[in-house]
Amino acid sequence: MRRSYKFLLRPTGKQAAALAQCLEDHRMLYNAALEHRRTAYGKAGVTVRYGDQSGELKHIRADDPAGQGRWSFSSQQATLRRLEKAFTAFFRRVKAGQKPGFPRFKGRGWFDTVEWPKDGDGCRWVSQPEHPTATFVRLQGVGHVRVHQHRAIRGRVKTVSVKREGSRWYVVLSCDDVPAQQLPATRAVVGLDMGVASLVTTSDGEHLANPRHLQASADRVAAAQQALARKKRGSKRRRKAVARVTALHAKVRRKRLDTAHKTALTLVRDYDVIVHEDLRIANMTRSACGTTEAPGRNVAAKSGLNRSILDAGWGVFLTVLAHKAESAGRELIAVDPANTSRTCARCGRCAKENRVTQAEFACVACGHAAHADANAAINILRAGLALREAADAA
Ligand SMILES: [Zn+2]
Repeated sequence: MRRSYKFLLRPTGKQAAALAQCLEDHRMLYNAALEHRRTAYGKAGVTVRYGDQSGELKHIRADDPAGQGRWSFSSQQATLRRLEKAFTAFFRRVKAGQKPGFPRFKGRGWFDTVEWPKDGDGCRWVSQPEHPTATFVRLQGVGHVRVHQHRAIRGRVKTVSVKREGSRWYVVLSCDDVPAQQLPATRAVVGLDMGVASLVTTSDGEHLANPRHLQASADRVAAAQQALARKKRGSKRRRKAVARVTALHAKVRRKRLDTAHKTALTLVRDYDVIVHEDLRIANMTRSACGTTEAPGRNVAAKSGLNRSILDAGWGVFLTVLAHKAESAGRELIAVDPANTSRTCARCGRCAKENRVTQAEFACVACGHAAHADANAAINILRAGLALREAADAA
């Protein structure tokens, strides 16, 4: 199994400057390689490939020992491969007759990751299991950078990447041969309804992960974006406003991921079989239904942002849940959520009127009253178990 780990870096001032320079030089390399491909094709009709550009690297490095020559050959190759990937995707889209979108030059702030494709080649991960605070990563041209290793890693480190998010630096490790950690069987099954008031409501009636803090963050992001829109292009204040928006977005992402991890962990520990809504289908229905928002200024823009932050929250949650379920040997089933919110879990009557409010469910046929999300979660669980039985019978 493969998985990745992300840790906060604690570079010194000097190292942070070197990291920024490293990123900048890789960005320049990417843009130069893109320019090379464009002119070769435009002027001579020649298609330049990764192999050609990788061959040129030696000369580029020799000509500029204090610049490009400082960094790892392999990380530079990884950057050239990234461009190759962009072109491959471009040609695939052309072939498929889609709107192609030619690979773009990366502006400042649009190139935030450098990858070292092999641990030990231009970089070295040095974990100290008995002294987690003494963990560091050695990066060619930067030095020994301290790492805040907040959890143990398992498996073998394959690639090492450095990523800039706002004013923070992270190291991302991609590990191979990560052993699965089977959890003991609980014989319990659960259905999940993904909602707005709670990220997840279970068929046992539990509400997990209140995304209210995400909503609060969404409001702050919206305010910061409005402030940004008022700033003059190219001004110092504008640059500051951009940094603030970026930092807020990063904060939302961190919170979202943290919530997803905690929620998924609880579920995987407690249940052998977990049934959830197929998000692609669910999102289509949701956007068609729309939501009611209290009237006010910029409601449309704000609710759009809230919506997208919540949508992303579900996506991240399901991705994390899938990883944890696989690693723990749990079964995950996705079902079509059609009618799960308007069907009575007791008598099976499906009616729009059953849904009294966003939170209340009251069956018009049998009088069964329940929390709307919990009722839906039971229907989702049944749909999943039915699918499972059908698959077993086949
Ligand atoms: Zn009923």
